[in-house]
Amino acid sequence: MKIQELTAKIRENYMKNRKEIPMEKLCRFWIQEDLLYSGKGKAMSIVFPTRGCSWSLSKYGGCTMCGYVKDTLLKTPNQEKLKKLFDGVISSCPKEENIAIKIFTSGSFFNSKELPESVRYYILHKLSKLENVSEISVESRPEYIKKEILKECCEILQDKIFEVSIGLESSNDETRIYKINKGFTLKDFENALRKIKSLKKEFNIKTKSYILVKPILMTEEDSIKDSINSAIYAEKVGIDRISFCPATVHAGTLMENLWKWGAYRPPWIWSLVEIINKVRETIEIPAIMDTAGMGSKRGPHNCGRCDSKLKKLIIQSNLDQSPVPEIKCKCKKRWKAEKYGERITASSGIIKYIHLR
Ligand code: SF4
Ligand SMILES: [Zn+2]
Repeated sequence: MKIQELTAKIRENYMKNRKEIPMEKLCRFWIQEDLLYSGKGKAMSIVFPTRGCSWSLSKYGGCTMCGYVKDTLLKTPNQEKLKKLFDGVISSCPKEENIAIKIFTSGSFFNSKELPESVRYYILHKLSKLENVSEISVESRPEYIKKEILKECCEILQDKIFEVSIGLESSNDETRIYKINKGFTLKDFENALRKIKSLKKEFNIKTKSYILVKPILMTEEDSIKDSINSAIYAEKVGIDRISFCPATVHAGTLMENLWKWGAYRPPWIWSLVEIINKVRETIEIPAIMDTAGMGSKRGPHNCGRCDSKLKKLIIQSNLDQSPVPEIKCKCKKRWKAEKYGERITASSGIIKYIHLR
């Protein structure tokens, strides 16, 4: 079956058993140390419920690694309830200076079908009034990035930094289209980027790119190269910062199916160290390596003995943008051997069809 059809079928089957979840339960937030544009500071990350990513809910099934749709409302949310929900969450915003607010809508902040327009502007108006909030970060697929909408958002936020994050995932069209099923090309990405960049003179607008480390159907070594190349590309086209997202195996995805069959392994943490260290010496823009799920069997992992030590070192490297120092563990040899072994058996052509029993 074609990868896109298979992704849609797996999603459909998985969602059949999905029960309705109240919006209060779907809404989560956490506060942690982070690297802001102004340096080290605190960020409040908010997972805000929406109808769910339109790409994921479409007949194309969404991206092969993404299971966020199971944590969404799946119906048009009540606007007043959403506004109240946001009021409640934002009342926990730290009072100290220089706070970044990151809003994750498990889809596109600018798509009114996912997050009603009135709620979008309500959130931004609310944040514009918080003097200690210096940065606001949202995410969107390229097709919903429109100059007029961006302008309106920037006008509300005035001199605060407004960061628009796009899931580029890979600078390689074949990888993004066939392995990730992302549904947009580099040309679409660059068009969206042009609109953001056109407002830079007038407003404090920035862009971030997410890069997926180790999509399905890719060897460990190729995924390292792909991540590094994607970071170099992102800097070249004018992205302000990069966030690497090492794959974690989400439920209800094609990635999970392959993982259960032994046909996929999340990245080694050694690979993440190699990526981050290479990127630190190659590009100048800040690059963050996400550590969510690190050390678990569904997330990036090594042997279990060195995982938490490396995770701490990566967190430190994210905060001060320094290389991750060398540490020793026996599993490094196995990682190297696997990288070499995979190269021998890897398919050199593009895989477009997969059969799952
Ligand atoms: S990764 Fe983003 S675009 Fe892809 S399905 Fe998930 S939310 Fe949608
Ligand atoms: Zn180890």
